[in-house]
Amino acid sequence: ETLAGGIRPRPVVGRLPRYAAGKPPVAVDGLASYKLSSNENPLPPLPAVLEAIAHQTDFNRYPDPLSSKLRAALAEFLGVPAEDIVTGAGSLGALNQLLTTFAGQNDDGKADEVIYAWRSFEAYPISVGLVGAESVRIPLTPDGRHNLDAMAAAVTVRTKVILLCTPNNPTGPILTTAETERFIQSVPTDVVVVIDEAYQEFVRAEDAVDGLAIYRKYPNVAVLRTFSKAHGLAGLRVGYSVSKPELTQHLRVAATPFAVSQIAEQAAIVSLQNYPQVVERVQSLVDERDRVTAGLHELGWFVPEAQGNFVWLDLGVNSGEFAELAGAQALSVRAFGNEGVRVSIGEVEANTRFLQLCADYT
Ligand code: PMP
Repeated sequence: ETLAGGIRPRPVVGRLPRYAAGKPPVAVDGLASYKLSSNENPLPPLPAVLEAIAHQTDFNRYPDPLSSKLRAALAEFLGVPAEDIVTGAGSLGALNQLLTTFAGQNDDGKADEVIYAWRSFEAYPISVGLVGAESVRIPLTPDGRHNLDAMAAAVTVRTKVILLCTPNNPTGPILTTAETERFIQSVPTDVVVVIDEAYQEFVRAEDAVDGLAIYRKYPNVAVLRTFSKAHGLAGLRVGYSVSKPELTQHLRVAATPFAVSQIAEQAAIVSLQNYPQVVERVQSLVDERDRVTAGLHELGWFVPEAQGNFVWLDLGVNSGEFAELAGAQALSVRAFGNEGVRVSIGEVEANTRFLQLCADYT
């Protein structure tokens, strides 16, 4: 598309997929509406968080560009050096910083390759495209898991970054410790492996990988975590990566100055200080997730291992139809083409209405 005066975006921009954000529910007479389309936390931020940010006033000042207080709090909370933590505007900001730093175009002008499973988080193709790198998408197994053998086999001399998503959005399964380690040992040590753990707090599978344990052993690994899901701070945009100085020394160079606002930093710190309450809320969502999953199994539906705050319905060509039926019940859910429907775990009433919809649909 040529703009006024012949201005054109660089070629890659026109090829980027648009991010399709989860839609809000459409009102239906007599029904409370619920948004189950963006894997958000249905609960508001902790009272202590709202209280703390309500009293901030110094917005004429820039925030600390290094988020030093938050990084100190996280260092203590996670048991890692503060130097290994890089904050961003959401974990997406931290991911973009990793991609900007390590992937783009080679010296020969050809695009670097970034490997990730597909389907996975919708923003991956956009973030990879934005830095001018090429996406190499490796299909998930039929039960929604990463095909790590195929991902390892796809590595070439052009591969710069590999994205692992555990639990995988939108399908739900985790990566195990054993398979993750085997995978990392099988790829060249100059490839950066990003372990995206946006839903880490919801994981209950005992064999699930702990990204931080992997980061401690492998200097080419970066772990992504966020305050958007378990902490319920999606609207404030704060997340981070954890990696060794081998990576962070380069990451700092590509930092967006002031990416994390004062409010976001303060909210994240206070949420960490009240972590027992976060755990309690997460457990209530995990209980709901397990109730929904059990209910679907009772109906005879196949649901891949659900370890995030969402479930995946393998509805194929019926996905759009199902999402419309949900909409008629004032529930917004997310259909992904002709593949499936992802439904976030929400309020108890929302989850119950969703299960009823599935029962009627069966
Ligand atoms: N990674 C995954 C797997 C996600 O699902 C999301 C949010 N949907 C993110 C990263 C980004 O979250 P945020 O930028 O809000 O931290």
